[in-house]
Amino acid sequence: MKHPIFAANWKLNHGPADADAFLRQFLAYYPRTQDRTVIFFPPALTLHAVHLALKDRTDIKVGVQNIHSEDYGAFTGENSAAIARGAGAKYALIGHSERRHIFGESDEQAGKKLAAAVRAGLTPVLCVGETLAQREAGDTVTVVIRQLRAGLSTAEPAQVAGFIVAYEPVWAIGTGKTATPSDATTVHLAIREELRTLAGERAEAVPILYGGSVNCGNAESLLAAPEVNGLLVGGASLDADSWSGIVRTWATMASPLERRR
Ligand code: PEP
Repeated sequence: MKHPIFAANWKLNHGPADADAFLRQFLAYYPRTQDRTVIFFPPALTLHAVHLALKDRTDIKVGVQNIHSEDYGAFTGENSAAIARGAGAKYALIGHSERRHIFGESDEQAGKKLAAAVRAGLTPVLCVGETLAQREAGDTVTVVIRQLRAGLSTAEPAQVAGFIVAYEPVWAIGTGKTATPSDATTVHLAIREELRTLAGERAEAVPILYGGSVNCGNAESLLAAPEVNGLLVGGASLDADSWSGIVRTWATMASPLERRR
């Protein structure tokens, strides 16, 4: 039975007060459940407030959107995995396309940041995905596998089973265009195959999420694809109604009774 992950990437939105209001509304809609995992990735300055607001809800996790590759030191303005961990984070996004394409982060930096997350005891969520030009050139799988290898290059095979991978085509992020379940399946299968090469049978344990313009209308069809182990959602996770609609997709898919309510 699939145990999907629903990850909300708030990007640069929701300060502590907004987050508090959001969580009050969301928690009222979302009862404690063991059949899926929900993770919030708030901005770094909001992370601790979200951690505190969730103190009674150990079923919901918090992650950091970006970390520096060093743990401490003279790196003004940066956030470290170790400090994020102290503030309540359990997960770290690594190599999100906005980090790669707006801030110029390389594959190599993604590998170093992944190592920093592992040192601090955070679960890395390694994001990979091709641009529109790369897709149109037929290079999707080549690009995704290159990013995957580089991101995991600092990890031991035995560690890989504890990681999460997110396939997020750049052309789908924040654009309203979504990969079809069949497109996502093709890439997820290629990622799984490469994970097997890197980590053997441990690769089966790695959840592979899809992200890119997921919303209440398309979440169900994407989640229905057997290779899609969860969703990483940006824009549609910013509103508590919309986010709870996406998270509750799984209840309605898993239980026909719930679907009729
Ligand atoms: C994201 O930021 O990871 C993302 C998938 O954004 P959106 O859902 O807005 O496309």
